[in-house]
Amino acid sequence: MTTSDCCRICGSQSLTIRYSGRVRIGKFGRVTDKARQIFECDKCGGVFLPPFGSIDSYYESHAYRQDYDGGDSDADFFRQHDGEQLKNLAFVGTQELRGSVLCDVGCGAGSFLDLTNGYVDRTIAIEPDEIYRESLHRRGHEAFAYVADALPAMQDQADIVTMFSVIEHVEDPLKLLEETIGIIKPGGRLVLSTPNLDDLLLTALGDVYAEFYYRQVHLWYFSSTALANLLKKVGFEDVRVECYQRFGLSNFMHWLRDSKPRGDDSFPGITESLDALWRQQMAQSGRGDYLVAHARRS
Ligand SMILES: [Zn+2]
Repeated sequence: MTTSDCCRICGSQSLTIRYSGRVRIGKFGRVTDKARQIFECDKCGGVFLPPFGSIDSYYESHAYRQDYDGGDSDADFFRQHDGEQLKNLAFVGTQELRGSVLCDVGCGAGSFLDLTNGYVDRTIAIEPDEIYRESLHRRGHEAFAYVADALPAMQDQADIVTMFSVIEHVEDPLKLLEETIGIIKPGGRLVLSTPNLDDLLLTALGDVYAEFYYRQVHLWYFSSTALANLLKKVGFEDVRVECYQRFGLSNFMHWLRDSKPRGDDSFPGITESLDALWRQQMAQSGRGDYLVAHARRS
């Protein structure tokens, strides 16, 4: 371990190796050649994978979108991500949307901004990929590469900032959130989602699932407690972290039998109501696969 591996959230050098093994590259089936080490900060609970190479340039590159979305056009993005947006809308709710200034950080080609555009007055897109930014501009969204670029024009402007599955990708989550709180109006909201480190499958399935769960591009992993602490450290108030389970019992059974994900495919003998009960129970017990944090700027 080197000193560069100290926790970027709290600066602690008291780190424990949480996992040592290969991690996923892109979609299921590709893993790193060499074992990578995942560290857990004993002080703040943050869990991280030290990056190799420049992660920013990877996100600005077309290789990233080829690896994850199977293409680098806005149409490829929509095909991959339009279907997820109803869930994102449910996380945010519609009650406070009308007439608001909405900023989506890490918005990709802008599926969520397109969906909410009818309610909100102004849509701000934060997206490092230049091809997406051009497309976002054409569709009437104000686009910036990074939150820091938006800050001068957007200081205290946003009623709502959304950040879906982004925080796990950045080298310095504390810095990103410190910049982000600056663009939120006093009293405005942040809705942030990320995979759950307390995902039951990680303890139940061990390394078989760990090789899939830990990913080259996910530099940070949070439990609900560590995520809430991070948001409070930044100065957010009314912090509440909810747990969700996106996949049913069938997916867990497929993992047990075949050691691979099958999304929403049903498993023989597992009914839809059993899948639904599993989702509900996993979420209630905090062992679901996904976290959604709600917070306000005071
Ligand atoms: Zn820490």
